[in-house]
Amino acid sequence: MAISGGCLCGAIAFDVEPPFDAFTHCYCERCRRASGAGRASVLITEASQLRWTRGDADRRRWDLPSASSFATSFCTTCGCHVPRLTRDGRHAVIPAGSLNGPPPITPQCHEHWASRAQWVCLDETELPVFDGDAP
Ligand SMILES: [Zn+2]
Ligand SMILES: [Zn+2]
Repeated sequence: MAISGGCLCGAIAFDVEPPFDAFTHCYCERCRRASGAGRASVLITEASQLRWTRGDADRRRWDLPSASSFATSFCTTCGCHVPRLTRDGRHAVIPAGSLNGPPPITPQCHEHWASRAQWVCLDETELPVFDGDAP
């Protein structure tokens, strides 16, 4: 059963067909800067499992020149991260937050933990939890 996904403004949409090969949280500096968050949560699957349904002209890719494989792919209107293919074209990297529903796999590990920002919490349940905005 394919899972749909897309960006915040709705210009870009895609379907991705399980299974997924991996689901990880990455704390490296590249992922931190690219996401603007403490970590990037990404799923990996075969490139053939990804199908774009809308927004080919709205998608932009940027390959970090100094990296062997790091890249970002985003909506040129709203800036949201969307899936990208690895440089060899064999795999698709899917930002977990871009999916419309839960994937049939849970996160497997924390990568590049040694590079994490000092403010990253491993046990996030130690913080107060609010169902909506913090008061
Ligand atoms: Zn968008
Ligand atoms: Zn990373």
